[in-house]
Amino acid sequence: IRRDDLRNIAIIAHVDHGKTTLVDAMLRQSGQFRASQLQGEQILDSNALERERGITILAKNIAIQYGGTKINVIDTPGHADFGGEVERTLGLADGALLLVDAFEGPMPQTKFVLRKAFERKLKPIVVINKIDRPDARPDEVLNEIFDTFIELGANEEQADFPYIFASGKAGFASHDPQAREGTIQPLLDLILRHVPGPEVNPDGPFKLLVTSLDFSEYVGRIAIGRIHSGSVKRGTKLAIVKAGGVIANGAADQVLVFDKLGRVEVESASAGEIVAIVGVPAIDIGDTVTVPDDPTPLPRIEVDEPTLSMNFRVNDGPLVGEGQFLTTRHLKERLDRELISNVALRVEPSDERDAFRVSGRGLLHLSVLIETMRREGYELTVGKPEVILKRIDGVLHEPYEYLVVDVPQGQMGPVMELVGARRGEMVKMDVKGAYAHLEFTIPARGLLGLRTRLLSATQGEAILHHNFHGYQPMKGEIPRRVNGVMVSMVRGQAVAYALDHLQQRGTMFVSPGDEVYEGMIIAENARSEDLLVNPCKEKKLTNIRAAGSDKNILLKPPRQLTLEIALEYIESDELVEVTPSKIRLRKRHLT
Ligand code: GDP
Repeated sequence: IRRDDLRNIAIIAHVDHGKTTLVDAMLRQSGQFRASQLQGEQILDSNALERERGITILAKNIAIQYGGTKINVIDTPGHADFGGEVERTLGLADGALLLVDAFEGPMPQTKFVLRKAFERKLKPIVVINKIDRPDARPDEVLNEIFDTFIELGANEEQADFPYIFASGKAGFASHDPQAREGTIQPLLDLILRHVPGPEVNPDGPFKLLVTSLDFSEYVGRIAIGRIHSGSVKRGTKLAIVKAGGVIANGAADQVLVFDKLGRVEVESASAGEIVAIVGVPAIDIGDTVTVPDDPTPLPRIEVDEPTLSMNFRVNDGPLVGEGQFLTTRHLKERLDRELISNVALRVEPSDERDAFRVSGRGLLHLSVLIETMRREGYELTVGKPEVILKRIDGVLHEPYEYLVVDVPQGQMGPVMELVGARRGEMVKMDVKGAYAHLEFTIPARGLLGLRTRLLSATQGEAILHHNFHGYQPMKGEIPRRVNGVMVSMVRGQAVAYALDHLQQRGTMFVSPGDEVYEGMIIAENARSEDLLVNPCKEKKLTNIRAAGSDKNILLKPPRQLTLEIALEYIESDELVEVTPSKIRLRKRHLT
């Protein structure tokens, strides 16, 4: 049967297109907030790193009560895929809300998630947001969205999407693009009308598939997922079916559901609802939580394996700043904490003294962690990134990734060339619309350094995602031109030097500030064609290129991107020191 008192909707939006503001308006107007509670406070606020990167790293969920219906708003990771999270998140929803800025239009970065939503047969509702902007062009943007849908393979029904215009800031939604006031209610009504309530079996045995995890110091691991069948009450005895059918015990010490501020404890919850369960310490993503007398598991979902390892070690010498020493134990504790919710991460002892071998899904995944730790004040030295090899039947195997690249049609050439040179094999090509969509299999080794190269070769336009594909026998070396770069950054000033720049071509790190581009040269002989771009802002790059025809331009690189680039260039035993005040790659000569 279908529940009508509940809706589960995933929200898909490019960073800055106004998701937080809009969700706030929905909450406020559905009568859940006293005005005082809201003052300057945003519920879904993104962290600084996400904003700089243009990707959503942490997903945050809330629920809205509207009339007699509860709407669970599920935040999707906007861009990066660190182990299948996009798929898992979409799996919780019965519908999707695509939020698009009325001036900027649909952004290529949201295509990956949107494509996955189409594959899951979700039918998005389109919200053209910020129509109060003086430069808003709602009708054109609507057409662009339609084109994007067609390009992404929307079926007839999906292409006939419901849409509405809105201003989260002014707090209204309307079917009239010229509207300047009103309430958010038309949007809530549209959601109720177009998103089906969950189809459930309320009477079956309680079953839930764990799609994400949370952690609290007091209660340990918390399982999050959508109830597939039956219901769960506080105190219910539970069985946890793990990989290979292994069963662990637990109990529903607490059952929590989403609410306006995050989560709230309830007495019980039933099929269709998304819950967090406390009392299941041995839980992992993909496990089924069920009842002991019927422990049949739901189809398991797998988290992508880590494919890349690096050594992490605390720096020698006194810290900059506090004069406090960081110990190996601090590092271990910090990494252990990370492991609880960062599901595609692995930490092991290293051969190197006082170091840990940290494995993740790729350079982006690891550098987000390193940069987050750096911002917390950790002073680290990290080693060369290495692909994780396995010996299977005596033969050395290496990890392969399934690589998806979206790029303007005119830039397809360099993409195919670069990926091909790294043993990428094209599996699929789709060139509807202005963008080409390319899919490859590629050894994980080939991904090292590929992102920056692709961005550089496509003026920052290429958008990459990759998923684990499997292990295959190793097939010799991947030709890789190694170039060196020396990066040194001073907090606040964000000065970077790429001293040993790429041997024949200079490389510049480019990043816009919030609205203004500023900075200075970082490489000798740099040419404007060689700009390295912050992928989240590629649209604005034209301005820079026009301004900086030669060296001595720009820059205020986001430290995280700079770090990622620095990591790509580490060879042999060279190390990167990552401190709150600087990132430095120690290497002078390069081959
Ligand atoms: P998010 O990154 O998608 O969560 O976006 P935010 O809600 O944080 O908004 C990003 C920026 O857009 C902020 O500076 C907001 O003030 C601005 N903004 C959000 N909604 C609107 C809107 O409806 N109209 C206008 N003009 N600006 C908006």
